[in-house]
Amino acid sequence: MSEYAELYQQVILDHNQSPRNFHALAGDARRADGHNPLCGDRLTLYLEVRDGIIRDIGFVGSGCAISKASASMMTEAVKGKSPDAAEALFRIFHALVTGETVSGVPEVADDDARLGKLVVFAGVRDYPVRVKCATLAWHTLRAALENRGAVSTE
Ligand code: ZN
Repeated sequence: MSEYAELYQQVILDHNQSPRNFHALAGDARRADGHNPLCGDRLTLYLEVRDGIIRDIGFVGSGCAISKASASMMTEAVKGKSPDAAEALFRIFHALVTGETVSGVPEVADDDARLGKLVVFAGVRDYPVRVKCATLAWHTLRAALENRGAVSTE
């Protein structure tokens, strides 16, 4: 097994076993439900945007290890960022996991467009079915930011 694949497994396992921000938010937090019928992944995402920044974010739900780890890492990646920066990261992440070219990325600071640990999901590219698992949380994030209540990967 390559060093890269090993890192991928470690990170996915870690976030699957102890997902970060794995809780609902109370009050008037925005929320959206995401569903990936292909795999059966379901999650509800909560977020609080104040003064143009994602101040708090949480998710609950159940699904495969990849969907859960991806949701966990997504929440860590976008917390403290602007919705534009989150959208930029999603575009870049989407290109990473699909192997497509990046397009329509909002202009944001370089720091905000850095994938960091999210690069481990590059391996998903070889498993098209898994791309929907890896992007479900991101699609749900976009739905919450746009105040659409629910999203399905189909
Ligand atoms: Zn899945």
